[in-house]
Amino acid sequence: MHELLQYQLKKIGYDEQGSLTREQTEALIDAINDTYKTADENCKLCEDTLEVSSERMQILYRTFKDNARNKLARSEEKYHKLISNLQPYYFFYTKDSDGRFTSVSESVKEILGYAPDEFIERYSDVFVKAMDIEDPDRPIDQKDIMPSELKLKHKNGSMRYLELREFPILNVEGKIESIEGILRDVSKEVKTRKKISDMLHFDTLTGISNRLHLEILMEKLLFDHYGKEQRFALLFLDLDHFKHINDTLGHDIGDSLLQQIAESVAQSLRENDIFARVGGDEFIIILDDLDSINLTLAIHRIMKLVRKPWTVRNYELRVSASMGIALYPDDGKNSIDLMKNADIAMYQSKKLGRDNFTFFKEEFNVSVHTEMKLIQDMSNALEKKEFLLYFQPKAWLSNNEIVSAEALIRWRHPELGLINPDKFITLAENTGFILKLGRWIIEEACQAITRFNNVNSNKKPKLSINISVRQFQHEPMYQILEKAITDTGIDGSQLLIELTESIMMENKEEMAYKLKQIKSLNVGIALDDFGTGYSTLAYLDKLSIDTLKIDKAFVDAISKDGTQNTLLDTIIAMGKTLNMLVIAEGVEHEYQREYLLKKGCDIYQGYLFSKPLSEQEYIEYLTK
Ligand code: C2E
Ligand code: CA
Ligand code: CA
Repeated sequence: MHELLQYQLKKIGYDEQGSLTREQTEALIDAINDTYKTADENCKLCEDTLEVSSERMQILYRTFKDNARNKLARSEEKYHKLISNLQPYYFFYTKDSDGRFTSVSESVKEILGYAPDEFIERYSDVFVKAMDIEDPDRPIDQKDIMPSELKLKHKNGSMRYLELREFPILNVEGKIESIEGILRDVSKEVKTRKKISDMLHFDTLTGISNRLHLEILMEKLLFDHYGKEQRFALLFLDLDHFKHINDTLGHDIGDSLLQQIAESVAQSLRENDIFARVGGDEFIIILDDLDSINLTLAIHRIMKLVRKPWTVRNYELRVSASMGIALYPDDGKNSIDLMKNADIAMYQSKKLGRDNFTFFKEEFNVSVHTEMKLIQDMSNALEKKEFLLYFQPKAWLSNNEIVSAEALIRWRHPELGLINPDKFITLAENTGFILKLGRWIIEEACQAITRFNNVNSNKKPKLSINISVRQFQHEPMYQILEKAITDTGIDGSQLLIELTESIMMENKEEMAYKLKQIKSLNVGIALDDFGTGYSTLAYLDKLSIDTLKIDKAFVDAISKDGTQNTLLDTIIAMGKTLNMLVIAEGVEHEYQREYLLKKGCDIYQGYLFSKPLSEQEYIEYLTK
């Protein structure tokens, strides 16, 4: 029974066994009626409360909505303003969950030339490729999800780079419902980035890799080779006498020459070969994946390529290269050692007379140390009077009588003993010490002549001295020679200078003038090592050269049985036609002397007649 009914029945005195009296029934109905009334009132109160609160809620809700809408409108306005400012660089899009474009903002037209609909329809034509630029700051997960840059094709065919950001929109279940994205035109940035990277990595003159890029490429190569015994070769290539071309013909010509050479070499290499310019006229080539035979062939090919005549403006130039080769892993396991050792081997090629190549050997390392020591010691060797001249007589081929001598420098080193010039002249040239040394040689030679005069004053013995190209270029030769001659009081005609052929690369007019000046002192002028370098026969006779000194190589080429040697014959004949005295150097054998005599050569010099002698010995020789 309902609790309230039980209570009302109890109130009217109803006992559960008996029946109700009339009074009792009336009282019960009244009580029930009251109960209903109270319940009704309660209900009404409840409803009223509800109504009031919901109305409140609605008001609240409406205000809230209005506020939010206002705020949203305001931020949207801001957003639109912002976007319209950015429009030339941005456009927005949405994609469905399958990645198909569903809408694209108008600004796509300005960036890619397509209207939004057109863009969506023709996206396959627009898309070129997706790239992932390295951005260390980007979180790793994002890096994996999407490429950060797109290369797209503008309607006009040009390429655009767009940076990409996408935001997935998730539904209640957390699945991707759609994607919103923004693309920013970064074409300008990409161009600048490329320019900067080119500037950083490529040589501006030749367009090939520079040292930095080389190092990066090498690190990669070394990484690929790590732990394998697979070899690769590093070639250090240095052009011979390039500085001379630069100094005499000007930097423009030198630069064009470098460009041409770099281009030709680059073309001759395989796609994966590494080729870099690491100094003025220094290049590094790395050849991987070649057996010894093919490596040697490749080296020969490069050497030959450099040797071909180059036409720069109106000049036909000939250069050669000295090359040093280091092999990985035998000659070095890292880039520093490989480059250093290839450089050392290259230097060896230079010493062997240039225009050749040398594979690195461990023993070269020692000689570099010796050279460093020589360079150091050289600087005060003059003050310590460690230099001296040797004299090698020259004789007429016709009667074997002495004509003159050549002064050849020696260095009496306190620890290393008597050192020959081929060990230190190049060093002196490279360090510039040759200028000081050269002046000393001239003075000393002139003084030696005075001592020879004392022995045999009637004969006026002649002496020739070697003058470095570098010295000839940088020093006022005429003044120096004139001073030495007057100071010692010798006859100018007693002195001869020997210049190597490379000096002919000088500016022709200037050269002719300088030689003419020297000639006016009655000093003889000989072209040394003739036939080995830049053949400049065409204007030889226009210069004041009176003697041709044929290089030892041609003398060596004379065969024992006296077979004709056309090249040598031609040189001798040519010298004679130009009315010059022709001297052959390095004559060691009688059959060589005979051949030279037969061909009309005038003078010979060499171990056959006499080795270079000390001053003491030479004076004794003169006295006889
Ligand atoms: P160079 O001017 O060609 O001198 C000839 C070299 O050949 C000398 O070597 C000489 O000793 C050597 N020689 C002479 N006859 C024979 C021979 O029959 N057989 C062989 N195998 N060699 C022979 P040296 O004295 O060692 O000089 C080497 C080079 O050093 C010279 O070549 C020259 O270029 C340079 N030099 C020598 N003295 C001077 C100098 O005072 N000043 C300059 N600037 N250079 C010098
Ligand atoms: Ca000489
Ligand atoms: Ca020589």
